[in-house]
Amino acid sequence: METVSSIREFHNVLNGELVPASFRRKIDSINPANGKVWARVPGSTAEDAENAVAAAKQAFPKWARYSAMERAAFLRQIGDLIAQHGEELAMLETNDCGWVIRETSYGLIPTLTSIWYDAAGAASVASRGETIQLSPTSFGYTLREPLGVVVGILPWNAPLFTFTIKAAYALAAGNAVIIKPSEFASVSSLRYGELLNTILPPGIVNVVSGDREVGEALVSHREVNRVTLTGSGNTAKAIVRSTAQAPKPLTFELGGKSPNIVFADANLEKAVEGVTTNGIFTGNAGQICVGGSRILIQRPIFEEMISLMKEKMKEDLRLGDPLDPSTTMGPIANEVQYNKVRNFIEIGIHEGGTILTGGRSGEEALSEKDARFSNGYWVEPTLIQVQRNSLRICQEEIFGPVATVMSFDTEEEALEIANDTSFGLGAGVWTTNLACAQRMIKNLQSGNVWVNTYRRVGPELPFGGVKESGFGRDSILENTQEKTCVIEEG
Ligand code: NAD
Repeated sequence: METVSSIREFHNVLNGELVPASFRRKIDSINPANGKVWARVPGSTAEDAENAVAAAKQAFPKWARYSAMERAAFLRQIGDLIAQHGEELAMLETNDCGWVIRETSYGLIPTLTSIWYDAAGAASVASRGETIQLSPTSFGYTLREPLGVVVGILPWNAPLFTFTIKAAYALAAGNAVIIKPSEFASVSSLRYGELLNTILPPGIVNVVSGDREVGEALVSHREVNRVTLTGSGNTAKAIVRSTAQAPKPLTFELGGKSPNIVFADANLEKAVEGVTTNGIFTGNAGQICVGGSRILIQRPIFEEMISLMKEKMKEDLRLGDPLDPSTTMGPIANEVQYNKVRNFIEIGIHEGGTILTGGRSGEEALSEKDARFSNGYWVEPTLIQVQRNSLRICQEEIFGPVATVMSFDTEEEALEIANDTSFGLGAGVWTTNLACAQRMIKNLQSGNVWVNTYRRVGPELPFGGVKESGFGRDSILENTQEKTCVIEEG
């Protein structure tokens, strides 16, 4: 049993102050590596949502009046501050989500700082319009203005990354921001919000943790001017319903069932890494929206690829203490998701899939026995061979270290299987044939296509989905509205 004193308490960040939730409701935060409560976060309600909106609304006009260059100066300072607090933030993310420290500290933190610097550089884009000559005596021009209060709703798999993508560009464009992290992983966002408030004027960034109750109150609020969600399709549908009475621009970054396609002429060494350790068997146990969860391999190289993939997984994947820098894969981030992933492995077996490697969970999935982690939410990296793409494990998002593997003969067949999904987030193509690559890029129904690489995202690249993977982009322009003005000679 944990003693009460060893459990850390975190607070909402409202109008520059650290405050508990109204009614002092709290939610336990569980470390998924050992199943123990390690922190408590506010369980906010509609009342807290109301306070957050009031704070953001009040702070907005002053922030919007700063020039783009002045706002950029704040954002650059934030980038520096995040780098200074990188170690602490990486630890919080790892403890709360199970994402291994080697990725949170060496990969995530530098990415966050680069997003802040990029947003600072982009700030001036938000103030650029067009001039349109209408006649010799009249012309029109467009003004870009901030929207007002932007609400960002976060998932549990990558809180700091999604927080940053949502807040940095919204702030650069002159908006005030409210972030609601997931009830399963709020700790890093609450601390991040606290740090940001050491630089920003009060009320410009507010963070309220809690479940769907506070989420619904925020998104449906009449004074909220844009909502950006990273989460599941069901939540997106609920948000569409709850914003119907007070419509506002919506950006949805949703799930995926991304194909990762290997042609026989590919550089196999690169492809093996691209479909395994870089494609789906990542440091956060495949809980990535763009996880290449459907691996398609051209028949002549099928057997060779499978044995190379198994070898690579055996050599490179080590499940265990997420805070140990040599650990390459952490646990599933929470118990609900853990049960979901295990259930999908069972479904796959019932549907006739063949487990090529993995399949075990709990203590048995750990690379080495370790009593400290025996109650963690561990799932072995799992490859399931399938004959048909119509199976549930090929159609539904599992969101864990589980990929299906299927063979194909022709390019047309690969395309047909790849596009046979309601999602459209990421797709990988491994080939040395440029013409084939270009045809695939053109015909894959996906927001992102990577050729001879995978999961390449960054502030320089727009990111988002098509079909049921969402719409809109967390870009600077989506955080603005256009006003058209016409001036006639007086
Ligand atoms: P989720 O939809 O269950 O929850 C997301 C957030 O929405 C949480 O903060 C939750 O409290 C909130 N929420 C739930 N109901 C709400 C409502 N009615 N109104 C307002 N807010 C509400 O998603 P999750 O399980 O936390 O995250 C996993 C999902 O996120 C997966 O589908 C994954 O693919 C997706 N994801 C997508 C991307 C992307 O960039 N496309 C990135 C990461 C994760």
